[in-house]
Amino acid sequence: MATSTPYSAPVDNEKFLYKLVIQLLIFCQGSHRLLEPHLLAIGSKLRSGANLQDLLSELQAVSKTLLHISKQGKQNAETDGSDSAALQNNYAMERLEELLADAQVPLRFQHQTSMLKHRVRGNHSEQSYKKVIDSAITLLMNIKDYGVAEQKGIDVFLADLTARLDEIGQDVEIAGQANRLAIDNREMLNTEINRQVGDLRETTQSAQELSTLKIHTSEHLDRLLAQLLEHKQLEDERQQETQDKIELMTQKLQELETETETLRVKLKIEHDKALCDSLTGLPNRMAYNSRAEMELSRWKRYKTPLALIVWDVDYFKRINDTYGHKAGDKTLALVGHLLQSNCRDTDFVARYGGEEFVMLLPNTQECQALEMAENTRKMIQSCGFNSNGEDINLTISCGISEFKEGDTHDDTFVRADQALYQSKQNGRNCCTVFGQ
Ligand code: GH3
Ligand code: MG
Ligand code: MG
Repeated sequence: MATSTPYSAPVDNEKFLYKLVIQLLIFCQGSHRLLEPHLLAIGSKLRSGANLQDLLSELQAVSKTLLHISKQGKQNAETDGSDSAALQNNYAMERLEELLADAQVPLRFQHQTSMLKHRVRGNHSEQSYKKVIDSAITLLMNIKDYGVAEQKGIDVFLADLTARLDEIGQDVEIAGQANRLAIDNREMLNTEINRQVGDLRETTQSAQELSTLKIHTSEHLDRLLAQLLEHKQLEDERQQETQDKIELMTQKLQELETETETLRVKLKIEHDKALCDSLTGLPNRMAYNSRAEMELSRWKRYKTPLALIVWDVDYFKRINDTYGHKAGDKTLALVGHLLQSNCRDTDFVARYGGEEFVMLLPNTQECQALEMAENTRKMIQSCGFNSNGEDINLTISCGISEFKEGDTHDDTFVRADQALYQSKQNGRNCCTVFGQ
């Protein structure tokens, strides 16, 4: 007996392919420099809620590049081949951590995400490793579905708003027509009154007898009065109608205003949340990127000095390992708070990722940034942080660099990062200005 292939709905296929793309991203990011630009583009499109169709061109490019790499790989196959599986697992976990750090997580998924981040950082058997990857994929897909649903909600609201504004537009048009009609009617009445008065004048001039004159005049005046009364009644009705319409329109507009304001506030809250790191309350990397762009254009325009500091908590892994991740998280919140409280209102502090923080200091030269950084470093060293009464040795290091003529943001950032590396090499708990 012939067996039939089980039917799978297109939407399931699409979900499966989508899952496959996220898996591809987690496993391949950073694996080959030729793949990197395409994977970065896919990552950014996924984050902005792209569907499979939107990803098609990038996926085709990945496919071509993979073919090319595999041809190259065959030639090198014999020389490589050691214990790459464990290394690859570790590598995938690191990529996953980065992917989660970069993802814009709506509030309702933040708890799940931070639990997952902890699981990513734990030790993994082959089995638990697979489970973590699976959970990450499910979470990212849920975030994406939620994003699409939210977007749909906004689209529906905007369509409704447009329809209701159209309705009000039509009401305004009708009120305008009524107004024009009223003007036309008044003109018609004027013409009619003029005609009647003209008739009356003619009748008066040609009248021979007083009695006929009286009758004619009285008839004319009656007609005029009746017309005036009819006109007044019509005008009153029309005016009442217009008044009702205006009241209705005002009410509709007020309703729209309230709803639009509610949506605006909701969107602002979501937007602020998307730019805020939930653990420390500081701006996150996305917020940093846009602020850096703004500070850089100001720096180019006004030519005042701009310094950049990259901070990194020393031996943070040891704090996590010794006192647990909860204590680690508290440490990060405290460091964030201390960094923020020790700089000016015009400076900008963000959590760049993991235990790294970044600062932008407008109107500040390298030497001034160093002075401020040294104060901060000493303050953190002596802040007396402890976990259940046990003192935690908390220190932090940084690298400093000033923006120089012709610099892109990345040029300065790389120099500050190199100076940070120098601080670590010099024994940590140290601040270094690049090139000094
Ligand atoms: P170094 O002095 O060279 O900077 O050493 P380190 O231990 O601070 O640096 P390393 O990069 O080896 O370890 C950083 C650790 O930070 C690893 C990662 O699991 C942990 N981490 C990253 N993000 C978080 C977080 O949000 N909470 C906690 N508790 N730990 C985190
Ligand atoms: Mg680090
Ligand atoms: Mg560190």
